[in-house]
Amino acid sequence: MCADILSNEKIDQQKLKKATQIITELQTQMPQYIANGSGPFLAAIFDENGNLIAKEANSVVNENCSHNHAEMNAIKAAEKALNTYDLSAHNLSLYVTSEPCIMCLGGIMWSGIKAVYYGVCSKRVEEITGFDEGFKPDWLKEFKKRGITVYGNIASEIGEKVLFDYVKNGHKVYKPQRS
Ligand SMILES: [Zn+2]
Repeated sequence: MCADILSNEKIDQQKLKKATQIITELQTQMPQYIANGSGPFLAAIFDENGNLIAKEANSVVNENCSHNHAEMNAIKAAEKALNTYDLSAHNLSLYVTSEPCIMCLGGIMWSGIKAVYYGVCSKRVEEITGFDEGFKPDWLKEFKKRGITVYGNIASEIGEKVLFDYVKNGHKVYKPQRS
């Protein structure tokens, strides 16, 4: 199991409450996305006034693209919607059903996203599904240095159930072969 709520700032109960609500909603919507061919991860980007800017699921398998993680898809959609490659002026928060993988950590850093809230921690994602999340530095600390707030392990019970069901129902766990 992962620890309780993780954060790289003093926990703000209001932010946590809002994130719990949003991530629970994303987890609740996830089975419908999976039924339509998506991978079991969903990300949403909101502005500081609570407006939804983008919401995208993982589409690696159904779109044949190894980069199409939920976070990357949501960032791409937000940049397109706001017509910019740099989201930093928009003070956006990204909410995602599981902890970002090594690729998405990079993608988030280069996008200008200001805050990340995630559900199930990588360790549990790997244990439950067998997806490879990659090697990671102490990224909460690194993000803090770059002014990016992180809260994690939010609504993880419902998130773990979605992942268990994904595997139980025989959906694809993709990763490159290792020799
Ligand atoms: Zn990823």
